[in-house]
Amino acid sequence: MVDKNPQDSSPPQWPEAAQTLMALMQARGEVARLSEREQLLSSLLVSVNAVLWAFNWETREVLYVSPAYERIFGRPTDPLLADYNQWRDSVYPDDLEEAERSLASVLDKGSVEDREYRIVTADGQVRWLSDKCFINRQGEPGQPLIIVGIAEDITEKKHLETELQRLATTDELTESSNRRHFFECANHEFERARTQGTPLSFLMLDIDDFKTVNDTYGHQEGDNVLQRIAECGRAALRRGDVFGRIGGEEFAAVFPGCEPGVAMQVAERLQREIQQLSFSHDSRTFTITISQGLTSLLPEDDSVDSLFSRADAAMYEAKRQGKNRIIPG
Ligand code: GH3
Ligand code: MG
Ligand code: MG
Repeated sequence: MVDKNPQDSSPPQWPEAAQTLMALMQARGEVARLSEREQLLSSLLVSVNAVLWAFNWETREVLYVSPAYERIFGRPTDPLLADYNQWRDSVYPDDLEEAERSLASVLDKGSVEDREYRIVTADGQVRWLSDKCFINRQGEPGQPLIIVGIAEDITEKKHLETELQRLATTDELTESSNRRHFFECANHEFERARTQGTPLSFLMLDIDDFKTVNDTYGHQEGDNVLQRIAECGRAALRRGDVFGRIGGEEFAAVFPGCEPGVAMQVAERLQREIQQLSFSHDSRTFTITISQGLTSLLPEDDSVDSLFSRADAAMYEAKRQGKNRIIPG
């Protein structure tokens, strides 16, 4: 404690001056800390591979967009800050409606985390974005409605997903649907035909004497035969038909909405086209025949398995009767 004499007109007391000085130094320290923080934040925003953005919903103004925008969109930020339509122009046209709808839905939901769409960069590349958005102040009176978001480039992840999906559903040799995917699609079409009361046909196809092809011309030539037959099968389909390799040299098809007579015409055309294929191996040529079993949806069928069993039995009957034929079942 310092005793202070009221009559004393000496210069300012040390404690007050020291306090002022301390406060000044603190303020300078604070400024330095703030500027350090600002630098840290700005270097974070530069290095993070996602676009952070803020948007005034009412005035349709982009208030802020982080530097990654230039990298990901391949466009400068200034035009976007001047006109929000720059963003709309970047969105892949097929995805624009959904991108705008999901942005607007943040008003009801408060946050939208599953928002994905494609953009076209300035040099024409298509990129997938995950663009999550949130409302920072929800409808407080007098406060502007600001939406903030974080847009991440997920192109690589999307490509991997597509590739995984392809690997999981496709037979590698023939590039047709594999057995599991074929039956998934077949079940789906079966359910639809039952609900809508529409016709549906199911076809089984097995290559005749395929073991002899392998034994005579080698396994690789056998593989080539499988590939060409799969191509022929796919070419015979109409939109919405399902085709797949369901076993070694066995294929199957589902024709939704197809009356038995029309399905028979498709099977006959396939029979002819496959027989017309010509294979050559070491200057020897050979042809291939197939046996087919064909059936159509009956009122008592309770699953696609019933159709499959009938078509399979009909196909074996075709084998029994001497192969190279179609038997209805
Ligand atoms: P059938 O006319 O009675 O159908 O006789 P098949 O010789 O066609 O039928 P089988 O079931 O006796 O033989 C089928 C052969 O298909 C045996 C198997 O080695 C061959 N195979 C299965 N998968 C493949 C494949 O991916 N590539 C090749 N090259 N051959 C395969
Ligand atoms: Mg077989
Ligand atoms: Mg066979």
